[in-house]
Amino acid sequence: NPQKTFEYRVMPYGEEHLLLIARDVTRVSQLEEMRKDFVANVSHELRTPLTVITGYLELLPRDEQDSFATKAMDEMFSQTARMQNLIEDLLILSRIEASAERIFEKQVDMYAMLQQIEAEAKTLNKDKNHKIRFEMDPELKVFGVETELRSACSNLIFNAIHYTPAPGKIVVKWEEDERGARFSVKDNGDGIEERHLARLTERFYRVDKARSRKTGGSGLGLSIVKHVLNHHNSHLEIESKLNKGSVFSFHLNQQLIAERSSA
Ligand code: ADP
Repeated sequence: NPQKTFEYRVMPYGEEHLLLIARDVTRVSQLEEMRKDFVANVSHELRTPLTVITGYLELLPRDEQDSFATKAMDEMFSQTARMQNLIEDLLILSRIEASAERIFEKQVDMYAMLQQIEAEAKTLNKDKNHKIRFEMDPELKVFGVETELRSACSNLIFNAIHYTPAPGKIVVKWEEDERGARFSVKDNGDGIEERHLARLTERFYRVDKARSRKTGGSGLGLSIVKHVLNHHNSHLEIESKLNKGSVFSFHLNQQLIAERSSA
């Protein structure tokens, strides 16, 4: 029945038989679709009023003599910016969840893309002053969805900047190893306790709620990374030690590596 969605499990049954169990998950997947649509629509609808609020906030004259008004306006600016970030991340997440884009159709020049992220990272790093080193194989290109891979890589790099006390050391690598193409970000920052690792990529999951709020993230970054990697048949690998630092990495398997131009 094409209208129905089933989940299948095969189990051994006695010595010679297999048991096939089909579970009707039509209702569950319909609800899941409704949830996705709802989140996407709400996020989209919230965009316009927020743009209007931000626009007026920018136009309001500032009276530096009035310390209350100045403080209130600064707070409104930063909170609307936070909301805008959150909505953009929700939209990115919905788009990736719904993405039917084929990953084998287009080549991504990761070197060029990472150079652009490097420039953005420099701006973000202005008041942190971390030592950030990029070690990249310029010839290593892959098949994939560029916008998605860009979100994943920049989230991991920006997190390293946020969650490392200044001045720290961050190393970003893009290289080939025996498992395929590997992207990694190593920092010597906050680190994460083992017990949090399994839940880290859940939506809005944060290790330290108060501190994360201060850094201004949406709590969706690693969830976006997870979905992007899932779409590219990969997964996030995390090694971390509390107060020592972390390595966030992923592999794109050999089949996704495009032929080198120099070969
Ligand atoms: P956000 O950064 O917006 O809070 P993320 O999904 O990107 O959301 O990250 C989830 C949580 O994982 C963060 O709140 C933080 O506690 C932890 N985290 C992410 N990256 C790092 C890192 N490089 N070092 C230490 N903790 C991290």
